[in-house]
Amino acid sequence: MKVRRLLWSGWWLWPLVAVCVADTFREQAVRIMQDTPVIDGHNDLPWQLLKKFNNQLQDTKADLNTLTGTHTNIPKLRAGFVGGQFWSAYTPCDTQNKDAVKRTLEQMDVVHRLCQMYPDTFVCVTNSSGIRQAFRDGKVASLIGVEGGHSIDSSLGVLRMLYHLGMRYMTLTHSCNTPWADNWLVDTGEDEAQNQGLSPFGKRVLKEMNRLGIIVDLAHVSRATMVDVLSQSSAPIIFSHSSAYEICQHRRNVQDDVLQLVKQTGSLVMVNFYNDYVSCQEEATLSQVADHLDHIKKVAGAGAVGFGGDFDGVSRLPVGLEDVSKYPDLVAELLRRKWTEAEVRGALADNLLRVFEAVEQVSHHAQKPEEEPIELDKLEGSCRTKYGYSAAPGLYHQPVTLLAALAPLLLSGYLL
Ligand SMILES: [Zn+2]
Repeated sequence: MKVRRLLWSGWWLWPLVAVCVADTFREQAVRIMQDTPVIDGHNDLPWQLLKKFNNQLQDTKADLNTLTGTHTNIPKLRAGFVGGQFWSAYTPCDTQNKDAVKRTLEQMDVVHRLCQMYPDTFVCVTNSSGIRQAFRDGKVASLIGVEGGHSIDSSLGVLRMLYHLGMRYMTLTHSCNTPWADNWLVDTGEDEAQNQGLSPFGKRVLKEMNRLGIIVDLAHVSRATMVDVLSQSSAPIIFSHSSAYEICQHRRNVQDDVLQLVKQTGSLVMVNFYNDYVSCQEEATLSQVADHLDHIKKVAGAGAVGFGGDFDGVSRLPVGLEDVSKYPDLVAELLRRKWTEAEVRGALADNLLRVFEAVEQVSHHAQKPEEEPIELDKLEGSCRTKYGYSAAPGLYHQPVTLLAALAPLLLSGYLL
């Protein structure tokens, strides 16, 4: 009786107690993130800068200290404890077989210029120790992820040069097939399978990425491509911005049996916040994102979980995760769900650092590079010249051209 009276007399305290507990999780999140900030797998700010300013970063409206209308700016990155970012060098599929390489180079140039323009905030790095150093210096380690294999225009030479210019992951496809790898739309029936995963040339691309030390990104690829890569890559891989299929049955998400392969290979799924991949609906919440994180942790282990928000690449984001400043709220939710501090630090940064270090260890620059080019008849589009192919052993790929070249000789009797 006494207890009941006490409880009732203190009823007005209850909301306060609830708020205090919530605050504790938020405070704990901030304390953790002060020395383990988040490394996000995918942010499309460079694409916004192209669309809004045609990449003219000195436009006063493009100032990242005051930029509005985007999910990302410097104050938001600071408030969100973002300490590492793979900036997406993205060019859409309609540039394939056209100006994809040029567009990709321009988006990579934007990232380099951001580091130059805001040296107190961004530092461009190309390895795991660079990320750790940026953490210590309180800067945002800035890395380049190239989104879409069409960006290399089926050329191993271009792949190598993009590596030299700072590309540290490449998404093997965007939402279109390349001549050497199939994309996720093959699984919905919207695209036809062209390679049944990776083609023989696609396998050489994978080998060369392993040799160079480029992280393979399987966001956007078909299931067959996922399985091919996970069974053949000599280094762990990432999904830079994909969620769990079991929670939302969208083909951009990762199925449970693929999550098993992720677990076996020490790979990583960086969860995408796009409403359509989170709830399979237009509306979603922060708590539903946490459901994806919980599920991947349950199936593939806490070491397989990361964040790949897809900020500035999507039109709809969950309530509570509206921009990059909201990361501590998501971490607080994980703590509320009894994730340990080590598991949270893993999801924030340690898991990505582990994968990146493994990729660096596998890389072997002294090994001979892959040289055999893609077969000429696999290339699409009519803009390309064919230099090299006519004199090289691949001559037989051009029977018509060969005949045409030989016709005058044949006619004049020289070769008869
Ligand atoms: Zn994407």
